[in-house]
Amino acid sequence: MKLSFHGADRDVTGSCHLLEVAGKRILVDCGMLQGSRELAEQNAEEFGFDARSIDVVLLTHAHLDHCGRLPLLAKRGFRGEIVATSATQELARLVMLDAAHLQEEEARRASLHTRRRGATAPIEPLYSVPDTLNALGLFGRAASYGASIPLGPGIAATFYDAGHILGSASILVEATEGGTTRTVLFSGDIGNAGRPLLRPPTPPSAADFVVMESTYGDRLHRPMQGSIGELYGAIGDTFARGGNVIIPTFALERAQEILFFLHRGVATSKLSASVQVFLDSPMAISATEIFRHHPECLAPDVTRLFADGDDPLRVPNLHLTRESADSMAINRIAGGAIVMAGSGMATGGRIRHHLRHNLWRTACSVVFVGYASAGTLARRIIDGARLVNVLGDEVPVKARIYTINGFSAHADQRELLDWHGSIGGNKATFIVHGEPVAMQALASRLKSPRIELPQLHETFDL
Ligand SMILES: [Zn+2]
Ligand SMILES: [Zn+2]
Repeated sequence: MKLSFHGADRDVTGSCHLLEVAGKRILVDCGMLQGSRELAEQNAEEFGFDARSIDVVLLTHAHLDHCGRLPLLAKRGFRGEIVATSATQELARLVMLDAAHLQEEEARRASLHTRRRGATAPIEPLYSVPDTLNALGLFGRAASYGASIPLGPGIAATFYDAGHILGSASILVEATEGGTTRTVLFSGDIGNAGRPLLRPPTPPSAADFVVMESTYGDRLHRPMQGSIGELYGAIGDTFARGGNVIIPTFALERAQEILFFLHRGVATSKLSASVQVFLDSPMAISATEIFRHHPECLAPDVTRLFADGDDPLRVPNLHLTRESADSMAINRIAGGAIVMAGSGMATGGRIRHHLRHNLWRTACSVVFVGYASAGTLARRIIDGARLVNVLGDEVPVKARIYTINGFSAHADQRELLDWHGSIGGNKATFIVHGEPVAMQALASRLKSPRIELPQLHETFDL
């Protein structure tokens, strides 16, 4: 049995692990590298294996850093099956097509730029929409939590709820070779138990080898309850000043969680029922629909609300603005509105228009509810910039800025240790998907007979 690592090694993005066992080559995730321009450029490099040789891909969840290179895998000759939960299949479709459109748009813009400088050959996108449709055509069996899926003679995979985003899974591969059966568990991204819409992570009780994420391996989260209070407080204060609340929001999970908290705020009279809420993101609107199709992934009390006809992802005055004309109309509203739009780090998308219209007004607030990496517009505002460039305009930052940190979709250090501790029979643990500091911090506290921090393209013979 061979295990090799081709992404998210001493880094957070680009998850991609290869398991060779019982005559099969199984890829777990094929994610996009994200962050700096340098990282983005690395997406075009060789995978470190032949795409045509892969028999099957097991996809842990629909985040771009886990599914974003699947179209490239198909473009380079992969023709096997992609196995994922049915919620992941639907969400990955959204995420991958959105990424393909962005790639095509960027390539078009870059081509125009180089043509002005005399170049004739157009710049090719990393992958196109047709490449993505090819990859989507390879999605095969839908995995149900806890049900074993045969991958070939003597080899099977079982998906377990990872509690991270809708449909997310940790995947256990069980393989028998030469009369010995061994198991390898891939954590995917592990959720934190306080997620309001999802069930807590439920890993299998035993695995010989564990490949686990370490995003927050060096940190503890603040409790969620305080964050919800902060959110209601920010909304109340802003409306009292006559302004709008602008929330840069990730389309997957965070948007639905904020809708859920707004619903609960209205239901418990912490927010007025007349509050106008705009979900100004076609992707978040589609993702919210997908949530409604998958009660099997939701926390029992959320499923119960749906069953009782009380849609927990709605408030009385919720406006879903798919069309850009409707989005632009929001800019005429001076106060009393909550506007949720992407991108979450304000690096692109409709949120930039809302920031341009509201950031300079003392009556307004901008509420950051997610991670903002260095160099992004979100991070500059959070770090206290007085003047920022938004869509080519210099905009003074006069709105009140809130950073609410308790909504993380990732387990913190204590939860990672608990998750790992609940898995018996451990022979070795491979730590991935983290900055080196976080990986080291987690490694120093984990109880495992052998701990590895793989390098990119490193192979282990097990
Ligand atoms: Zn994720
Ligand atoms: Zn991830």
